[in-house]
Amino acid sequence: MQSLTSRILELRGQRNLLDPHRPWLFLSEDEFSAAGCLQTTSTIFLTNRECPWKCVMCDLWKNTTTQSVPHGAIAEQIRHALQQLPPATNLKLYNSGSFFDSAAVSPAEWPAIAELIRSFGTVTVENHPQLCDHRCGEFRDLCGTTLEVAVGLETAHEPTLLRLNKRMDLDDYRRACDTLRRQQIRIRSFILLRPPWTSETEGIDRALQSLDFAFNHGADVCTVIPCRESGGMMAELRAAGEFSPPQIESLHRVLREALTWGRGRVFADLWDLATAESPADQEWLVQLQRMNETQQPD
Ligand code: SF4
Repeated sequence: MQSLTSRILELRGQRNLLDPHRPWLFLSEDEFSAAGCLQTTSTIFLTNRECPWKCVMCDLWKNTTTQSVPHGAIAEQIRHALQQLPPATNLKLYNSGSFFDSAAVSPAEWPAIAELIRSFGTVTVENHPQLCDHRCGEFRDLCGTTLEVAVGLETAHEPTLLRLNKRMDLDDYRRACDTLRRQQIRIRSFILLRPPWTSETEGIDRALQSLDFAFNHGADVCTVIPCRESGGMMAELRAAGEFSPPQIESLHRVLREALTWGRGRVFADLWDLATAESPADQEWLVQLQRMNETQQPD
């Protein structure tokens, strides 16, 4: 019988052609920070080798390479982006995978990277729970900044989590959070709103349960990501009636409710909603943006 991973790979389209010496995207935005105010944050989307995990819902592979990028290319990408971005307090380095995957970002490049980013207040990198270990603290010490590691919990509904092909369970997430907290590293968690095999109502309830689970395990900040239909496996699941994207009202409900808890910052990922067309969706979008920026329930 065909494995889930090989089916996911079989259904994929073409990846984008990328220059390994340039990030595929970089941008500047204001984000409500741990300091309790809006601060400018630069985000650099590094061109990097594809993540070794193959999650059902992931479309990040589209902007990755099949091979490790040449030595020095990650620092070169960061330097290039920082030369063009406006000054910022904080920095996010997102590599469509795990920063502490040595085939993605070689530890031999850390000193050059640290030199470029040491002036930022907080540096955020993303990482799979199974790769959260002592190296996170070593990198933080080299940079001398506050380090935040963004970990995809995805969902605290374990049967769904296991079906996502992320090859992690809730114990892996717990262990990763314990390891990061012991090293005084901040935790950002990504939570999916309405992953496959989930009704709209279950989507709302489980996103809230997942936020609660993440905060219980020490997350400082969470981002709720509406699960999107990104082609490939997700298109197949949608055609089979096993996945539907969540409604924008559901995202509003989750964000609003979680902000009333006052347990930590919560953001709605509005990446795919910026093009919302109907006046009603535009109104939801404005409210979501306001809640993101003020961290007050609207
Ligand atoms: S671990 Fe993250 S980057 Fe890797 S395939 Fe899964 S969702 Fe995508």
